[in-house]
Amino acid sequence: MWPFSRLRSVRFCAFCKAKRQVYNKKHVNLTNVVCAAAFTLAFTYAYFAEPDPRGLMVFCVFIIFSEIFVYMRWRNGVVCSMCGFDPILYKKSPQKASLRVSEFFKEQVENPEFWLSRSPLLKLQKRIRLQEKKALEHQIIANRTKSSSLAHPKSP
Ligand SMILES: [Zn+2]
Repeated sequence: MWPFSRLRSVRFCAFCKAKRQVYNKKHVNLTNVVCAAAFTLAFTYAYFAEPDPRGLMVFCVFIIFSEIFVYMRWRNGVVCSMCGFDPILYKKSPQKASLRVSEFFKEQVENPEFWLSRSPLLKLQKRIRLQEKKALEHQIIANRTKSSSLAHPKSP
């Protein structure tokens, strides 16, 4: 509903299906421009005590920073915090998006907070660790049998 709309909405990650909230607003809207104009007017009157063309500069700077802030907030919110999947990057290059998810995975494995999260990547990490553990146990058993056969060589 104009002039106020919902700031965030619920979305699902396309990669890990995790439920999360993302910012809806991608660019500044008319409400922001009107507020910036009001702020500029108040600032101009307070600083110069009369309408001043330099107020236009303040207005432009304010709008530019607002646009950068709103866009960066939206862009950062799009990236999934559970798996690091970036749908915008995926549209441009699926390989780069895949690489980003694997980098995220490698970084987060060292992070204790990640282990307390509900990330679907944890299942994968637990499976990898279980496989490594089994491989290690297998190797230990193989080494023991080898050393015991060396200690007690069977006479022909
Ligand atoms: Zn995800």
